[in-house]
Amino acid sequence: VEVSDRFLCQVCGEDRLEVIEPFARLPRVTSDCKPWPAGGTLAICGECGAAQKLPDTAWREEIDRIYRGYEIYQLSSGSEQVIFDEGGAAAPRSRKLTDFLAATLPLAPRGKLLDIGCGNGSALGSFSSVRPDWSLYGSELTAAALPRLRQLPQFAELFTCDLAEIGERFDIVTMIHSLEHMPRPARALEQALRLLAPGGTLFVEVPDVETSPFDLVVADHLMHFSRATLRHLGEKAGCDIFVVRNDVLPKEITFVAGRGAPAGVSATGPDGSAAARAHVAWLEALVAAAQASARRASRFGIFGTSISAMWLYGALKNDVALFVDEDSTRVGRNVEGRPISAPADTPRDATIFVPLVPSIAAKVIARLAPLGIDFVAPPVA
Ligand SMILES: [Zn+2]
Repeated sequence: VEVSDRFLCQVCGEDRLEVIEPFARLPRVTSDCKPWPAGGTLAICGECGAAQKLPDTAWREEIDRIYRGYEIYQLSSGSEQVIFDEGGAAAPRSRKLTDFLAATLPLAPRGKLLDIGCGNGSALGSFSSVRPDWSLYGSELTAAALPRLRQLPQFAELFTCDLAEIGERFDIVTMIHSLEHMPRPARALEQALRLLAPGGTLFVEVPDVETSPFDLVVADHLMHFSRATLRHLGEKAGCDIFVVRNDVLPKEITFVAGRGAPAGVSATGPDGSAAARAHVAWLEALVAAAQASARRASRFGIFGTSISAMWLYGALKNDVALFVDEDSTRVGRNVEGRPISAPADTPRDATIFVPLVPSIAAKVIARLAPLGIDFVAPPVA
């Protein structure tokens, strides 16, 4: 979609992208949780409101570098990030999505499923546990995960070609945290629809820009959808949309569609542009607050070791002495020599900054208050 030196909106195709200048000053992070330097370009479409990076030469070179060194779930030794529900029970993210799919769709006992951007196969494995007789297919940039994928029951094939070259058709095509990475999202969605067998279902999961400020600083995420902008893109691509929700998993949009006649666009709800602008200002304020807190602290630490924590670590680096994490698979490890300790083992003299959205940070701080840790909450949004 590059027109000479200009870019058209990835969602509506209009030439109305406005660059959000302060974003270039923010440090970033990769989707596999490594600090990444400042210098990105975030734009918002004046027509449809879609927040997006520009897939310019610099961005393409950056994603090449990021994917060459990609290590999925490195801190937890390859096991998938868990989601804690209100009751404190933990389940892998893809297990929650599989349960939602099984509850939403009439799933036949047998069928073919293709996961586009399958990584090391965690979603395929979860699906297989509810429908063990389905044949599993994956699509990825490289064959690096093939040995691991081959261990899945009923694993059939890994495609590393362009989606357009896949000749098979599938009963379900999933894109779980992959569409936001794709340099040409409209084309990717069209190709995913084309791969559906008659009556087949497309399932897409992406971060929700309305509720996840930290997603903006993920360097390899091109698109930052709201429910309205994802619906807009889906309808343009020819989706017959059944579900667009942001309450199946926290901070994410769940989208379910079939192949339909390209419909008129019926985007409803916030386009996410106001949220994206507010997030950029809040992220800047958060870095400043953490820097001020680190200057006052005798020993400064960061709560968590996931995306937002690694992003903040990249901004502060030498001021960070330790990490505190509730995820037992990460406790006892370290980040570039800085220990990851359990909340109960936090040193008495440490000041721990909590880089989470204010409502979640408040819950964490209240829950761990009995431990007497000197927590610092993020700025109010
Ligand atoms: Zn647009």
